[in-house]
Parts: sequence; structure tokens; C-alpha cells
Amino acid sequence: MYAALAILMDRRCMLCGDYVGQDCLCLHCRLLLPYVPRRGQTDNYIELRLAGSIPLQRAYSMVKYSSGTHCATILMAIKYYSASWSACKLGEMMAADATGSGFFATADVLQPVPLHIIRHLRRGYNQSERLAKGIGRISGLPVKSLVYRWKNTATQTEKTAEERKENMEGAFRGNRKRILKALQEARARGRQWLHIIIVDDVITTGSTIVGCAKAILDAVPDEAGDIRFSVMSLAVAGDLMMGRLTPEKLHLEDCSASSEEFLDWQHRPLA
Ligand SMILES: [Zn+2]
Repeated sequence: MYAALAILMDRRCMLCGDYVGQDCLCLHCRLLLPYVPRRGQTDNYIELRLAGSIPLQRAYSMVKYSSGTHCATILMAIKYYSASWSACKLGEMMAADATGSGFFATADVLQPVPLHIIRHLRRGYNQSERLAKGIGRISGLPVKSLVYRWKNTATQTEKTAEERKENMEGAFRGNRKRILKALQEARARGRQWLHIIIVDDVITTGSTIVGCAKAILDAVPDEAGDIRFSVMSLAVAGDLMMGRLTPEKLHLEDCSASSEEFLDWQHRPLA
């Protein structure tokens, strides 16, 4: 009886279709994923990319995105093919991976990047919220809804960095009451700041993350100095990857290091 039930409940690997029990990826496919180097460690390039735009503590992306890869298949599945259970399992995988680097040590809440209500209803779920739920299961952090999507923005896929930024202008609104409550709870726990981890499926230029964080800060201008952010995404798009990230792209006008020196610096051993 139990054996029959176990077979019925058995899930298939998202990538190869093998039976994997209560998981979304088989061990073989997990090993083949294009993992981001130095993920979760301090001063990784995702942190460098977002630093200065928002009060940032840490940034983590699990895998590198490029079209036609396993990573693209996974993103398509959780975004457009109702793989919401798998998104939750991927969130668990991300959290288990990031825990070792102390990623959650000072964090208070998880804030998934919200979908506009129309898109949410059409899709039936928010993939970032499902990832956050999985992260919450491992980290013990609550998933909050401190910000909502005000504008039903056009898809970002074909847009340039500048167009993405414009597209995100005013896209989010923070919920002042809920943010103040979260701040109060953090202070009651003896925290110096409210530390929010923003969760997204994929980081491309970072404009969505920045828009979301700024909406939270703008909703409580008098308390904005007491809010910090970290970022977690399942994937990071190719143009942010090592080897293609240059000082120019980071807007470091006064940086004289050549790209090679810059890469050496990124690979330097941690103190
Ligand atoms: Zn597989």
C-alpha cells in the first residue's frame, strides 16, 4: 500500500524526466547546472553591480542564465508552465546553498518581487513568491508583502538597460503600515535595522530589484535610514557574469584597472 502511494507521489526531474521522489531535479542534473562562482560570499559581482543603488547587505544568485541552457528551461518552467511546486523546491535548494555563508544571519523578512494583480491572476501564482516560500522553509524567515506592483509593466525581455529602468519607474508602491510594523518587530527583537531580503527569479540589469527596494524606502521616508536589503535570485543573466563585467559597466569612472586586473581582484582570496 505504502509502496504504491510512494510511486504515485513520485515526481519527475524538471530537466531529464527521471523519477526523483520528492524533489524537482535529479542529482545528475543538479551537478550539471551552471552555478555562479563565489555565490553568497561577500563582495561578489552581483553585490558590486547593485551597490550604491540601494542600501545593500548581501546578494546571492544561484545559477547563470543564458538562453537555450538548462537554466533557461527551469526559468521557463516556473514562469510559464505552472511549475509552482518546483519553484518552491528550488527556493529550498537556494537557501540550503546560501546558509553556509551566513547569508541569513541578520535577515528579518523575505519580500518576493510582486506581480501585478492582473498577471498574478492570469498565471495563478507568483514564481518569486514560491521561491521565497521555499527559502522561508529552510531559513525560518517569514514571507511578507510590504510592497505591491502598481503598474502592469510590459515584459522586460527585449528591453535595453535604459528602457528597463524607465519601465520600472513608479512600478511599485510600498505599504507604509506593513513596513512600519515590520520595523517595529525588528526593533523589538533588538535589531539595529530592518533587514529585508528581496527575492526574484532572475536578475538582469537589477532595475526590478532597485525599483522594489526604492518603493519600500519611499513609503517610509522618515525611517528609510533603518532599512537594509539583501537580494536572492535563482538566476543572474549573462551580461553580469564574470569575464563580461567591466569597470565601465559598473560605472566606476575613476577605476583605472584593466579588465584582467579587475577579474583577478574578483577572484582574490577572501580575507
Ligand atoms: Zn535530471
